[in-house]
Amino acid sequence: MSKLFDFFGMEICQFPCLADNYGFLVRDTQTGQCAAIDTPDARAISEVLEARKWRLTQIWNTHWHPDHTGGNLALKKLWDCEIIGPAAEKGKIPGADRFVSENDNVRLGKTDARVIETPGHTSGHIVYYLADKRVAFVGDTLFALGCGRLFEGTPAQMWASLKKLRALPDETQIFCAHEYTQANARFAVTIEPANAQLELHSAQINALRRDGVPTVPTTISKEKASNPFLRADQATVAAALNMSSADPVAIFAEIRQRKDRF
Ligand code: ZN
Ligand code: FE
Repeated sequence: MSKLFDFFGMEICQFPCLADNYGFLVRDTQTGQCAAIDTPDARAISEVLEARKWRLTQIWNTHWHPDHTGGNLALKKLWDCEIIGPAAEKGKIPGADRFVSENDNVRLGKTDARVIETPGHTSGHIVYYLADKRVAFVGDTLFALGCGRLFEGTPAQMWASLKKLRALPDETQIFCAHEYTQANARFAVTIEPANAQLELHSAQINALRRDGVPTVPTTISKEKASNPFLRADQATVAAALNMSSADPVAIFAEIRQRKDRF
């Protein structure tokens, strides 16, 4: 069920958790230090650690929602690991030891991650960007062909957050926290029915899901070409929505509202 990605000096293990979450373990191979990206399910995370004989030294939380922090305390009890979370969600991250904000560096052995603040889904949501490896753990901010619901933030905030992620290098691998891709694809084609790249990606996604294969990670280049939420400032999207004179925030807000009703 789990999948291992080898980044030369760093490994990522990805595995399904709960109904549609993904758990991720990142391990620095030289030092053996290992971080869980969010804690959807302490038991599932422990099983993977045990199977791989890895020891958990850190937890990196992206935001406070229970499907991202629910395993914090149980894992801390087992491993005495350091828990890192967003400074803007202080008080909401169980067991947190250290709070980080924009541009802070989080180190795992020889592996460094930069914190990018991406408010919108929650007001303190953060992303961990491993620049050397071109890897980003984006939590519930960006999904393959979708984005997180606006529970706490405004459309303007979320649009700004998504633009920050869109500016990452094209080849950046985007590790999203949920397998929502197939439903996102069904919605995306209602926004841009004439987008050939989107059509291609949808076909690939359907084939993967038919075989039960994860569609995560995705890449920035794929998302730029076909994710309607990253394309709110494209003339083709504005035209498709009959909103050619509107600003991108209004177009983004319209796409988000349509998805909420979809
Ligand atoms: Zn969430
Ligand atoms: Fe979530």
